[in-house]
Amino acid sequence: MSEAIRDLVQGVVDGSLSDDELTDWLRGVYDEGLAEPEIIALTEAMRDSGDVLEWGPDISELIVDKHSTGGVGDKVSLVLAPALAACGLRVPMISGRGLGHTGGTLDKLESIPGFRVEISTAELRGQVNRIGVAMVGQSDALVPADCRMYALRDVTGTVASIPLITSSIVSKKAAEGLSALVLDVKFGRAAFMVERERAEELARSMVDAANGMGIRTTAVLTSMEHPLGCAIGNSLEVLESVETLCGSGPEDLEELVCVQGGILLHATGLAEDAQTGAVMIHDSLQDGSAFERFRLMVEAQGGDASILDSDASLMRGLGLMDPNLNTTELSVGESGWVEGIDAMAIARVCLGLGAGRIRLGDSVDRAVGVILEAQVGDRLEEGEPWMVLYHRNEVDRSTLEGLLDSITLSNEEIRPESRIAEVFE
Ligand code: URA
Repeated sequence: MSEAIRDLVQGVVDGSLSDDELTDWLRGVYDEGLAEPEIIALTEAMRDSGDVLEWGPDISELIVDKHSTGGVGDKVSLVLAPALAACGLRVPMISGRGLGHTGGTLDKLESIPGFRVEISTAELRGQVNRIGVAMVGQSDALVPADCRMYALRDVTGTVASIPLITSSIVSKKAAEGLSALVLDVKFGRAAFMVERERAEELARSMVDAANGMGIRTTAVLTSMEHPLGCAIGNSLEVLESVETLCGSGPEDLEELVCVQGGILLHATGLAEDAQTGAVMIHDSLQDGSAFERFRLMVEAQGGDASILDSDASLMRGLGLMDPNLNTTELSVGESGWVEGIDAMAIARVCLGLGAGRIRLGDSVDRAVGVILEAQVGDRLEEGEPWMVLYHRNEVDRSTLEGLLDSITLSNEEIRPESRIAEVFE
């Protein structure tokens, strides 16, 4: 069976397997699953479909990464990778594009003019050695099998499968030559695994596969009921990431960044425990060192770092001042405390605005999206705005009405809960 899986992955990479044949196979796995040895064989074959990075003995213990199973407004990677580098770790992050209704780190980074997510393996190694962080995509050189399978899963409704998510994520991480890994496994209405039990199963599958490949791995189970932070959409999320890198991001985003970073600093021995590590990450956001790493990374990967000089240049550089971009404000019809914001409803609207792909090869409009003016626990008075939509064309009436239903208000005060439900090792 392992042999058959290796042949399949070979066919994915050399093109002898057509899109239709690959889609049939993905649908079969989606419907029927794979046994554990097959998941491992698939993950190893995908890892070995391209280069596997090796690091010298002086830094190999410091090579770490984080990956999420996909969310709405999930920009943790953009903040965490430079923060980890600022704290002394090395992060050769291989990310993905938007998948299904969720956003992708690569699409977000490409809203920075000039930013190249495809760099050679030699450049990636050199950059990580020099400045501690690089963020790149799967390519012909790095996990090419995932590059093709990921794009096809995105448009064939075959994302929410434990074997396919496990092999996609763990193969990328294993190709990076990691010492330690933290996985952000989402559950809730806008996660691929809506039920918590299924998310736990996915966490177990990934932790076992990654540990089995010699990577010290922890999974953090986090809720994806409501969007993370206030920005949804590629450019808007970069803007919020920069604010967070400068110490003034939303609390829920900062919490995930600090907790996941703390786990990695502890796993590599740079912090005596995960709490101390979380404080180190927090300090790097406050003292400008994480932001400085982000700027160095943008420069190193060909991006126009001058857009980071001021709020106005950032807005302009990210295409958010484009005169063809319209904004529409939505207000609440009654007063109350925000109890819920339906991340799935908002993700669908953003997809409809052009923030993600519906068909293979669709282009993405990086400037469209949503800014939430309120988060769970905030008080809103009747007529106060709770959301601003950034869009190109007229937004139809039914979309706007659907959005009005996506916020739930309560007459009683709501205390926002931590998004973190459990930590798995
Ligand atoms: N992120 C990935 O890289 N792959 C998946 O399958 C899901 C999220």
